Amino acid sequence: MPRALLNAVLLIASFLAMEGVAWAVHRYVMHGIGWGWHRSHHEPHGPGRWGWLELNDLYAVLFGVGAVALIWAASRDGYAPLYFVGVGISLYGLVYFIAHDVLVHRRVPLKWTPKRGYLKRLVQAHRLHHATQAREGAVSFGFLYAPPVRRLKAQLQSREQQP
Ligand SMILES: [Zn+2]
Ligand SMILES: [Zn+2]
Repeated sequence: MPRALLNAVLLIASFLAMEGVAWAVHRYVMHGIGWGWHRSHHEPHGPGRWGWLELNDLYAVLFGVGAVALIWAASRDGYAPLYFVGVGISLYGLVYFIAHDVLVHRRVPLKWTPKRGYLKRLVQAHRLHHATQAREGAVSFGFLYAPPVRRLKAQLQSREQQP
């Protein structure tokens, strides 16, 4: 395989794999042992002690430091495929920030709301993730892959009916 093609495949594969990693970390770490940090993202809050920062942002810092460390370590070699893995992870982080923190949570002022199509579904699916403020019982842990809203609502309803 030509090197440029291999690099592109590595970059795209890392980007796509990050959706799975983000899902698993969100499902099993953030809503599990790491709830202490993530809770700040599920509770309603105004500008707090640190302005608009949340304790939950530490997860983004960890991912960012990991990606930068990978790029830095890889670029010390002559040719390092891991460099493109690091770039793929960073790009996912950037897209996640724009979609999650800007489009859904409006941490940067934005007036536009998607009215149809994929972006509307993405916003609705994540709003449904925030329908619960508790560690247990949430739906839709992934992000860029948004399941159909109808299915998520049905899941939420069936959970509420459980004792
Ligand atoms: Zn959550
Ligand atoms: Zn959120």
